[in-house]
Formats: sequence, structure tokens, C-alpha cells
Amino acid sequence: MKGVYKDATNERLKELAKYLNKYRKLYKLDTCARKAHFFAQSIQETGSDLESGLRGESFDYYKDNLAAAGLNAFTTDEGKTIAQKYGRKVVKGLVLSETNQIILANYAYGSHYTTGKNFKNTGANDGWNFRGRGLLQITGRSNYKVIQDTINKISSGSGIDIYKKYDNPNNAISIANGYMTMEEAVLTGLADWYKDKMYAQADRTGTMEDNKVVDLIVDIINKHTDSRSIRRNHYQKTKVTFLVDSCKNIFKEEKKSKPNGKWHDPVDNPMCTLYMQSGGGGEAGKHWGLFGKTRNRSNHSGLDLFAKTGTNIYACVDGTVFHRCSHKGYGNTITIKVKDPKAFMKRKLNYILQYKEVGEIEQGKSWTENGDIFLFYAHLDFVNEYTYGQEVKCGDILGATGRSGVVGGTTAPHLHFEIFCKYEMGVGTQHRINPAFFVKYKGYKEQSQDEKKKQEKEKNRGKINEVNGKKSLTHYNQSEFQK
Ligand SMILES: [Zn+2]
Repeated sequence: MKGVYKDATNERLKELAKYLNKYRKLYKLDTCARKAHFFAQSIQETGSDLESGLRGESFDYYKDNLAAAGLNAFTTDEGKTIAQKYGRKVVKGLVLSETNQIILANYAYGSHYTTGKNFKNTGANDGWNFRGRGLLQITGRSNYKVIQDTINKISSGSGIDIYKKYDNPNNAISIANGYMTMEEAVLTGLADWYKDKMYAQADRTGTMEDNKVVDLIVDIINKHTDSRSIRRNHYQKTKVTFLVDSCKNIFKEEKKSKPNGKWHDPVDNPMCTLYMQSGGGGEAGKHWGLFGKTRNRSNHSGLDLFAKTGTNIYACVDGTVFHRCSHKGYGNTITIKVKDPKAFMKRKLNYILQYKEVGEIEQGKSWTENGDIFLFYAHLDFVNEYTYGQEVKCGDILGATGRSGVVGGTTAPHLHFEIFCKYEMGVGTQHRINPAFFVKYKGYKEQSQDEKKKQEKEKNRGKINEVNGKKSLTHYNQSEFQK
């Protein structure tokens, strides 16, 4: 712990170790790689003295720095005025009064602005009372609530209730009275790590560059942060502290699902979706996810593979990033240009059309295998940071599935996957080949009862449009990668 929080007092560290040892295994902080990643993030969130994790996020900001700190409420005209009026007047020295900090926090996270709305902050003092705290600085009423629910579920006897403690909409809890105990700060951080399955991303350690693994976790914690590179540096230190390089047990799980470097399915355990965006389907929808005029004669240009939001998507073969943007209809997308089209075509399977009678086809008009070939992934939750032309290797995780693109929301979460020879949207199956010649997917008949039930359960969650808040990809400029 000394190697992690170098400015914390010994007393603090002892207490920290005590509660980590009490709880960490329950919350999957139990391998060297998981620890190295957890603490790399925590240093950034709480500071090297742990102070802001316990005291709570500081709002002692210089007036001109509030908007730049990512507190977007201060980017509006009104916000700018508030920042000038209540922010610190001098760049350094003098601590901003508690009264002003409270005003700034309530403005930054108040219900009048998107950030506060997403946090479901409703009370006048929710912004301040539910500001960042704990080892991973959770923020906002709704996050405190789900974290507490997780704590209740995983360690029900702890006697901790962080939601109740800070639920005081009519009063701003003073800094002195608002401190978290070390036990609360530890549990809060662990529960956040656990509920968002950050440990599963940490388990990718060794299968890709360190920076990419850090990025996957940053994408969960604070996607739009400007401290990405600092967090990568933290990891370079914590991986030494926790002896990650000499640990032999961390890669096993990953190797199992990683094939011989020639092909990786776009999602693990691919199976066709049985439900439409609208929710109809089941047995009637067993061919709706397939390629061709499989949906009451409307054209489907790809293969729809069932995938709960947040499922990893993989580069099927080696290639380069060709395009990445938000489309109407398709949502967040990434396109990979295949490195070796000839080798790619050699992998073509002897697939027999399953629903020819209702319109499933082998390929669309003007598909050719004598030029470039592209892989296209749509309706994503997020796409990792890439530059145009950046190389990706077979099996690399490109991002995760979601429900983006359908304005009214979609009930059937899936990856829409296409293989085409020319990047042109809105032309139906033209330039495209049926992806089933490459992805050995499970059809209706091959899916187990459990798998079918899982699909039904997901669609019964109702219509969801998950392109809000921190998951938004709107900042991906449409022209970003356009040639
Ligand atoms: Zn589709």
C-alpha cells in the first residue's frame, strides 16, 4: 500500500489494509493484475494521500478552471457566470470557502444539467452531498444507490449504508461531517469495481498492450477524462508493486478463448438474435437476424448476433481501423479493413443457407472477393480509442456491444455484423456477403433452452436506448475517419 499511496500516513495505510483484507476477495480484487489495475485507477481518483476519497471531491477550483476540469455545467453562459462569481479568485494560495464549494458542486451536478440528471440528483444539495468519494470516487445519487445495493448483496453484514448517510437533500453536509470512514471508502471502491466487472477487463492483462487494458477500465470509470495517459503511467508503477510480470496465473482464462491467431469470432459464443428491435420474435423471429430479405421481405445487410450490452467485440482477423463513427440507425460503429483478403477468403465455410425460403441469401449484388474486404460492427456501446489506419490483431477487443442507433430504443440487444467489399451504407445487401460463411453461429435449432430464455429475458427488459451519459459516443465526429 505504501508503494501505491506514497503520501498517506502509516495509520491510514494500516486501516486501509485491514479493510481490504476483510473484503477484497468477495469483490474480486484477488489477482496481481486485478490489484495493479484497481490501484492504478485509485491513485488518480483519491490522490496519493487518499484524502479526497475520504473527505470527498474538492471544489476548491480557480474560477477559470471549472469548465476545463470536465465539469460541463460550467460551459454554458449561466455556468460561466457562476464560475466567475463563486470560483477561487486567485490561481494559487487561499482555500475557497466551504459555502462557495457547496454552491459550485450543487451547480456542477445539479438536476438542471445533463450530468446531474444522469446522476438522478433531485435534491437541492444532492450535487454536493453525493460528490465523488471512496477509493474510486463514485459520484451522484444514483451511483451511491447502486453501490449500496451491491454492498448489501455482496457483504450484507457490513452495517455500512453510504446511501442513507449522504441522502440529505435539504442540507449540505459539512466537509467535517461528511468524511467517509476507511471501511466505507474501501467498500465503495470495491463495489464499484465489482458491479461494473472491471476485474474482467483487468484479466485481459498479457493478451494486449498494457495501455489498452488500462483504457478499457478508464472507459468504465471515467470515459471522458483527460487523465488517460497519467493513469497508464500509474499502471506502469503498480504492475511493478504487484509483481504482475512474474505472475503466472493471470492469462489462462483468456488463452482459452483466444484461437490460433487466424480468426476470432466477432463475439464469443455467437448465436443469431431471435427478437426484433421492436420486441417481436421468439420462434417466429428465428430467421430475422440472418442475411437477406429475412424480415418480411425487408433487406437485412448483416448478421445479428445476440449480445447483452457490454459484451466484448473482437477483431476477427488482423487488419487496420478504417472508420469509426456514429450513424443514424446503426449507432456507434467501427469498420476494420482486412489485412490479407486472400487468406480471409480461404477461411470461407461450407455454410448451407438455413432459411432460403424466406429470403436468406449468400451474397448481395456486386459483392467481390477480388479487392478490399471490411468488417463492420454496429449498435455498439463504445469503441476504443483508435486513429485511422491503426493496426489491430486478430482477437483484439475493439469495444463493446450496446443498443445504440435505434432512436426509440431497442428491446433485443445484439451486434449487427457485416462483411463487405465497399464502404457504402444504405444500399441493402449490395457489396455484402452473408457473414454466416465466416461466423459459425448458433441458429434457432442449435441454441439451448437456457440460451433462448436468456434472449427472451433480455428483450423483456423493455425498450432501452443506451446512448446516454458517459456511454455516449456523440463526440466521435462523423468525419473523423472519413477518407
Ligand atoms: Zn442487424
